[in-house]
Amino acid sequence: MKEGKLFVFSAPSGSGKTTIVRHLLEQERLNLEFSISCTSREPRGGEEHGKDYYFISLKDFKQHIKNGDFLEWEEVYRDNFYGTLKTEVERIWAKGKNVIFDIDVAGGLRIKKKFPDHTLAVFVKPPSVDELKRRLKKRQTESDERINMRIAKASVELATAPQFDVIIKNHDLQTALAEAEELVENFIKNGHSSEEE
Ligand code: 5GP
Repeated sequence: MKEGKLFVFSAPSGSGKTTIVRHLLEQERLNLEFSISCTSREPRGGEEHGKDYYFISLKDFKQHIKNGDFLEWEEVYRDNFYGTLKTEVERIWAKGKNVIFDIDVAGGLRIKKKFPDHTLAVFVKPPSVDELKRRLKKRQTESDERINMRIAKASVELATAPQFDVIIKNHDLQTALAEAEELVENFIKNGHSSEEE
């Protein structure tokens, strides 16, 4: 099997990383496919099984952990488990494509450690914690309690940014999208991002 590249996009939720990942997936020349994670959380409005996530029960999730099926997994929020199955990378590489991950900071760094030469790990930085709060509230998909949980986690995650290969500051979405495209393109062509030179 030809091994492709791995692109990890990690960030506190509300940073705009999902928008960036979706944009990159639309760029056919980048030959990317989304790594579908497993999660034990309930689907949010409009999310589909086998597209956004594999929505599985907590029991099945724990069984996959026992079987050693995950490349990485995290209890991102209490009783909400998220993980990447080893078979996802195999599935996408077998198609001759590059893999793009929308996963949390700890998971992202773990993938980088497992595949150091194949992976470009990108941290998407929100303008500020206040802006993050505003964006999460605007989304209106979750309770205040859950939003506060995400904000608390965000502060911890922001501190890990220097461990990533590159940081994209998402102050202006169009600029962030263009920057992300360039980084991915360079890594596919040269095996490193231009910022690493
Ligand atoms: P959400 O509930 O908003 O979809 O995701 C919550 C967090 O879990 C996000 O930061 C998301 O990127 C992360 N996440 C999604 N899939 C995975 C995964 O497979 N592994 C890890 N470690 N985190 C994930």
